[in-house]
Amino acid sequence: MACPTCSKTILFGGIKEGDKKYCSKICHEKGEITRIAEAFSDQTVEAFSTEIFNGTCPECDSPGPIDVHKSYFVYSFLISTNYRTNENVLCKKCATKKQWSDLIRSFFFGWWGLPFGLIITPIMIVANIIAMFQNPHLKGPTKILNARSRLIMAAQQMEGGFQEQVDEEMVQAPARSILEEVLISDPVVKR
Ligand SMILES: [Zn+2]
Ligand SMILES: [Zn+2]
Repeated sequence: MACPTCSKTILFGGIKEGDKKYCSKICHEKGEITRIAEAFSDQTVEAFSTEIFNGTCPECDSPGPIDVHKSYFVYSFLISTNYRTNENVLCKKCATKKQWSDLIRSFFFGWWGLPFGLIITPIMIVANIIAMFQNPHLKGPTKILNARSRLIMAAQQMEGGFQEQVDEEMVQAPARSILEEVLISDPVVKR
């Protein structure tokens, strides 16, 4: 039997849920959150997402639009190079600050791994610069904010009842326990 979340083969143990069996607690929680997230209708998600979009910035409290802005960070050490895309729910101004900070950190810490540091660092620097000039949210919430909203709603549901208002803390630090793994898009690639 294979785990529906990570498709690892389960030989012993595992966590049963209906007719599925998960390999670990974390995979079980991920499976659960995905199931809950998919059950919300598009309209409910868009309403929630629009509320975030029109709300105030979790960082500086100034009025929106608030959306997901990506920033890119790479660091290297000897032969290992790690990079990730951060998805920040912020106003444009704070997002630009974050992109600057990831750019500068990448500039200082990205190069020091062979060979990928030398290749990936300039890519990440350019990606931050491009992101600074992009303004993805001229026409309302982006798809990526909708997707994020869906997961925030699911997390709220799991933590004892989804409310139709936005829980600001969740937006910025979405339910650490479960969501650390699921939400914070963290495709850290180790080489
Ligand atoms: Zn698994
Ligand atoms: Zn802000």
